[in-house]
Amino acid sequence: MGENSKASIICPKCRKENNIINEYCVECGSRLKEKNSKLFQIVENLKADLYGSVICIVVFVAFMIFVTYGIISNYGAYGFISILIIWPLTIGFILWTRHYLKGLSKIRRFTITKDYIEIFVPHKPQFHINWTDFNSIEIKRSDSITTVPTGDGIVMGPRFVYFNLIFRGSNLERSYEFESGKDFKVKSRKKILIALEQLAQKQGKTFKAWR
Ligand SMILES: [Zn+2]
Repeated sequence: MGENSKASIICPKCRKENNIINEYCVECGSRLKEKNSKLFQIVENLKADLYGSVICIVVFVAFMIFVTYGIISNYGAYGFISILIIWPLTIGFILWTRHYLKGLSKIRRFTITKDYIEIFVPHKPQFHINWTDFNSIEIKRSDSITTVPTGDGIVMGPRFVYFNLIFRGSNLERSYEFESGKDFKVKSRKKILIALEQLAQKQGKTFKAWR
């Protein structure tokens, strides 16, 4: 980070001390600086995805209760042994999902101005880089496909797609990785990459993408 990252700015609304690079207050979300030189911005949350996931979990738990009921009525006391295995797994899964869904309803923001690029995703450190700090942007894409063993063999599970933005200067290399569909919607991710490519060209920077 540059020297300016040590300076602070007081929120005009709630008086919270914010890092000078923040455009919005970390406490109340108010705008800290005048709207200036903004070339591109995506502001979104993933509330709809959150609600969809919550519905899936509720259906899943209802199904597990139904299965438990079936096991007990068919196998009696022996059935409890399998339930002792099934329920800790179910609860573990719900806790994992809860962790995964955390922050989906919160605002995420990708801003490009004529001076800097700033990325804010909940539960991740804020990323800020000035155009003058780097000469090239490289975008790397990585996919990870999980597999789920079933009675019919192995099937493909959820697919996670990550985009790593790598900024290189003469004596600097910084990167920011975000998950498509979780940190930013797929639609937004496409807009972000197009904006980065176009604005990088305008700023005379080298742009390289995975394709
Ligand atoms: Zn505030």
